[in-house]
Amino acid sequence: MEQFDVVILGAGPAGSVLARLLAEKSHKVLLVEKDAYAGKTTACGGLFDKPYFDRYVNDPKIMEQHIRRNVFKMPWGDVTYDCDQVTVKRRIFDRFLADRAGESGADYRTRTRAVDWKRIETGHIEVQLQDLDKKEKYTVRAKVVAFADGPHTLAKKNPRFDHKKNRKNWAYAYAYEMQGLATRPDEMIIYLDKALFPWGYGWIFPDSDVSNIGVGTIQSEIDKGIKVKEKLFEFINSYAASAPLLKAREITDKKGGFIPMWLIDHYSDDSQLVLGDAAGMVSPLFGAGIDYAIDAAEAAAATLEEALAGQAFDAATLSAYDRRLKEGFIIDLRKQMLVARIIINSLKFGAQWPVKILAVIAFGGKYNRWNKIKILLYPLLGRPEPVPENGEILSHK
Ligand SMILES: Cc1cc2nc3c(=O)[nH]c(=O)nc-3n(C[C@H](O)[C@H](O)[C@H](O)COP(=O)(O)OP(=O)(O)OC[C@H]3O[C@@H](n4cnc5c(N)ncnc54)[C@H](O)[C@@H]3O)c2cc1C
Repeated sequence: MEQFDVVILGAGPAGSVLARLLAEKSHKVLLVEKDAYAGKTTACGGLFDKPYFDRYVNDPKIMEQHIRRNVFKMPWGDVTYDCDQVTVKRRIFDRFLADRAGESGADYRTRTRAVDWKRIETGHIEVQLQDLDKKEKYTVRAKVVAFADGPHTLAKKNPRFDHKKNRKNWAYAYAYEMQGLATRPDEMIIYLDKALFPWGYGWIFPDSDVSNIGVGTIQSEIDKGIKVKEKLFEFINSYAASAPLLKAREITDKKGGFIPMWLIDHYSDDSQLVLGDAAGMVSPLFGAGIDYAIDAAEAAAATLEEALAGQAFDAATLSAYDRRLKEGFIIDLRKQMLVARIIINSLKFGAQWPVKILAVIAFGGKYNRWNKIKILLYPLLGRPEPVPENGEILSHK
């Protein structure tokens, strides 16, 4: 049986960055990806904060656009934020990150699906893999397994990592890539409108030659019979910025995917770590998880570095990963989860309440007290006006 220090399941941003950081320190790492190349089937807009791009890619060929403005279109008017973000095509970006992990010394195997795993004892995990070309199964041994295999992760075999199986705690998003630019090249537009979804949104981001256009909503809306694909057609055909510019344009890619709106309670156990979407590390307000996946990979790498130095892989040693996450983004992400719950529950007061609550809690800094009251009572007191530009830089984290 082949033996590794760490076996990483999934070559998304979480898995590939972790593999690269460990391989750079000469640890024996196996990174497995079920697809023919990383990012091949990933459904994602590919918009995230530029500092992460600069840290791990910094290659202008991979960046599609440098995004400087986010415009949120709400029933009473726009709110605009300055930002420092990039757009990438995930099939190019993920492939780049996974290839760098391989070049740094990780054993990177594509068309290799993880099918099962078992903890034998502390520091001894067995992972069953399937070579999808040879149609053969084989088992490898690791001191630690890192689950970076997305929202339908194998980690949930361990009850400590299972999220509450509440169907309401998922969102689903569907996106097209369409020829031509429907927006300014440095601008991302998000539409929040009850005519589209009571809670959900439509987005348009520019890549260099195509527009990424998508819609997403929560599972409870889909359960009511809303068809996300039909909403995407409606969005493309009827929304002001998208409609005239996208008429008769060719669709170059179509993808949909689930977004977890749950966060597990613990991220490590004896000889195991969970990161990225596998742990539910996605902003429930923006549906963004690339930054968090990379943050988690950095925290996991620092923890595994210490564990490998001391050859200690028990739950207490690996809980340093949970501590690092709590000192980092987890508290803020939990607050976002709470806001999302309040927003979803506000649906019972009427279809416009989710956007109103989002505007008051999450975008509150853009409105003074009187205008927040106008939002809550909109349209009774007229249009709420945001305060003039205050230089706040928006991150989707
Ligand atoms: C439509 C849509 C749009 C989105 N837009 C954005 C956006 O604009 N910005 C943003 O920040 N986030 C966005 N997200 C969220 C973002 O895609 C995720 O948060 C991010 O990809 C998480 O990275 P990850 O590495 O944890 O997991 P993933 O990117 O999901 O990577 C998991 C990898 O594991 C592989 N895998 C899965 N199971 C196995 C297995 N059993 N064996 C081997 N390999 C396996 C998969 O093929 C995949 O390559 C979007 C999501 C959706 C659905």
